[in-house]
Amino acid sequence: MSSIGASVGEGGANRESDVRIVQQLLTKAGHDPRGVDGDYGTNTRDAIISFQKTFMAKPDGCIDPNGATIRRLEQGSNPASKPVAASADGAKVGDWSGDSSQWTQEKKLASLEPSFRPRIERVIAKLKDSGFQPKIVFGWRSVAVQKKLKAEGKTTVSFSFHNAQKPNGTPNAWAVDLIDARWSWNEPDCHKFFKALGAAGKAEGLVWGGDWKSFRDWAHLQGRQNSELAQVKRESGLA
Ligand SMILES: [Zn+2]
Repeated sequence: MSSIGASVGEGGANRESDVRIVQQLLTKAGHDPRGVDGDYGTNTRDAIISFQKTFMAKPDGCIDPNGATIRRLEQGSNPASKPVAASADGAKVGDWSGDSSQWTQEKKLASLEPSFRPRIERVIAKLKDSGFQPKIVFGWRSVAVQKKLKAEGKTTVSFSFHNAQKPNGTPNAWAVDLIDARWSWNEPDCHKFFKALGAAGKAEGLVWGGDWKSFRDWAHLQGRQNSELAQVKRESGLA
């Protein structure tokens, strides 16, 4: 159940009571519409677009009562009640906010590009068969998290295959980071797990970060070539 009854924004119904609710939610989310008066104008429009820019490649300035914008605004003001919808394959999706490294394994898998995901599932199954305990650290992550990791020296790029998204802002990652749950980054045995990961990934035609001479990214598998990064950024609506 949405908190607004009809659309608010550019070309929207803009009922006074709905506009007022949106203005309150925008204020709480830190995108100031300059007053809560129930009156739709340029300040409210600018605040909606400013908020949509945080997760949409092409903000449309209009909030649908059943759309992603109102859902995100509601989450922002009340993190305890996160609506979760079921996707066609049964994975829990619908709320892609928050720290994606804390998501469940199932949700991390659901954040992967649909043709990339089954290959990763086969890699995981193979590693489990070999006695490993593979665990996804990151599937998709936001560009904001990527920038933070870059500042910490944990990655060298500000846009990576982990950041790939659909143009509407939902995750569509072409990369995944896997560790063994027992050892994380500190394997006792000469990267036994990471080498097995690389072999299983390459058997699926994937690129393994452990092969990179300049920056060995042991846990990392990706479904596209490095030379395709700019193209993936365009496909994501981010370039
Ligand atoms: Zn990675």
